[in-house]
Amino acid sequence: MKMPTPGFGFAVEASVGLARAGTLTTPHGSLPTPTFMPVGTQGSVKTLMPSEVAATGARIVLGNTYHLWLRPGAELIDSIGGLHAFARWPHAMLTDSGGYQAFSLAERRKLTEDGFTFQSHLDGAKKHLSPEEAMRVQGLIGADIAMQLDVCPPGLAPRPEVIAACERTTRWARRCLEARKPGQAVFGIVQGGSHVDLRTAHASELSAMMFDGLALGGYSVGEPVEVMHASLPLVTQSLDRDRPRYLMGVGTPKDLVVGIRSGIDMFDCVLPTRNARNGQALTRTGRIVIKHTRYKEDREVLDPECGCPACAGGFSRAYLRHLFIAKEILVLRLISAHNLHLYGQLVREAREAILRDAADNAQDATQKNSMRAFAAFEARWRVAGASG
Ligand SMILES: [Zn+2]
Repeated sequence: MKMPTPGFGFAVEASVGLARAGTLTTPHGSLPTPTFMPVGTQGSVKTLMPSEVAATGARIVLGNTYHLWLRPGAELIDSIGGLHAFARWPHAMLTDSGGYQAFSLAERRKLTEDGFTFQSHLDGAKKHLSPEEAMRVQGLIGADIAMQLDVCPPGLAPRPEVIAACERTTRWARRCLEARKPGQAVFGIVQGGSHVDLRTAHASELSAMMFDGLALGGYSVGEPVEVMHASLPLVTQSLDRDRPRYLMGVGTPKDLVVGIRSGIDMFDCVLPTRNARNGQALTRTGRIVIKHTRYKEDREVLDPECGCPACAGGFSRAYLRHLFIAKEILVLRLISAHNLHLYGQLVREAREAILRDAADNAQDATQKNSMRAFAAFEARWRVAGASG
């Protein structure tokens, strides 16, 4: 279907159970879903060239509004042609609203009905992030997709606090849609903490608004991971099925598998790149902490099935360990590329499994809703990096 903003579209091509395979169309190209968005906090996916990010299969990245707004400034980015031109990323791009980081990183922050007031963690400058300012700044940065400003309560906040956060997020949703930049898609953000009933009600409320897509925010903020896994399939069913669904800031390979089974289309997380810089390579069978002595003479690559520059290039675990211990920056690039390739492979395999199951089920009416291929995909991935 066409999304409300011209130039955007989303089509679910196949589904099995709640899982879906689709295509998201943006002014910077179409991309297959489910998809993983590498995070480029400062306008760069740390250590990698844009072409290296694209080689992982990623066709959309995430930029952090809070960081870019404070430095180098949204006006400067706009004057150089927007973040696509500034960062030399030719594919699709999404920015968050800045609210989450304004609240978690800034100093002397205060939350009122008109937004977040805070002091920059860089120079102490006083800033105010209202729904209108969040849309203005994201408009200047110029990503394809902007996110509404929302209120994210802590994971185990008391119910009245979560209700108040949902209500304020809805009021801000209206203000953000009013203040949007023409031509930029906007996603709404469902809150509700670990209360499924609140999430379901908020999802229905935001589904009735003119958002191009809907996101689930406020997960992975302190609550047990099992709580999120249990609530996802219940909450996604209240999200309009014709629009893309985005699970914000989550997570491990296992979280992606559970999310995709629950009907999520888009993910982002700093985990694969952050873990890489800590010397942790993710594989289908778990994590490799490269500095461990056990890899000292290990001639194997990280994962013989992986097509990344580190594995396909034949770089042994022993060499990667040596680089890490010698503090050579090449190892950060190699493991970052490896981890993002793994995520790219995960979402590709999920999509293939959904398409395969849907095609098999269409051919043979007796096995309606069989998830044979998807179950095989899950068996292949569930063990990987479960502890993050
Ligand atoms: Zn690899």
